[in-house]
Amino acid sequence: MVRPRKVRRIFFQPDVTYFKPAGIPMVNLKETVLSFDELEAIRLIDSKGMEQNNVAKKMKISQSTLSRLLRIGRKKLADAITTGQAIKIQGGNFKMAVPRGRGLGMGRGRGFGGGGRMGGPVAAGPGGVCKCPKCGYEEPQIRGHPCMNKKCPKCQTQMTRK
Ligand SMILES: [Zn+2]
Repeated sequence: MVRPRKVRRIFFQPDVTYFKPAGIPMVNLKETVLSFDELEAIRLIDSKGMEQNNVAKKMKISQSTLSRLLRIGRKKLADAITTGQAIKIQGGNFKMAVPRGRGLGMGRGRGFGGGGRMGGPVAAGPGGVCKCPKCGYEEPQIRGHPCMNKKCPKCQTQMTRK
């Protein structure tokens, strides 16, 4: 039996979800996939400087789960930066805590020299969630990326907007 993983609450979706090192052809590029919950742990603790116990409460997870997210996320970032891999932010086990239709107050910083972001910023409405109709996998909809253009990372079914 697979024990269901606890859903983490996150409060943030990045505007940019792909970072590509300059000067490396796509064919030679390795990719590290950072999940949204790992990113949120890193954002709240390393970027915002919050205490681990407060972050654990905020994300509704135990401190040990939080420290695991942090450890895995930091390692992925460190590996990507030191070995020149692209970083893709995708997936994870979480629920977006921001009510639908409200602005996310996302920073404008486009960091890392940009690049790699496909498609224009089509107004899809922040806070949407894409769901796999087959296995129920969910992830936040990225602005400009309609759910139907996405495939479920678990079972490759076309996703729909929840
Ligand atoms: Zn699926």
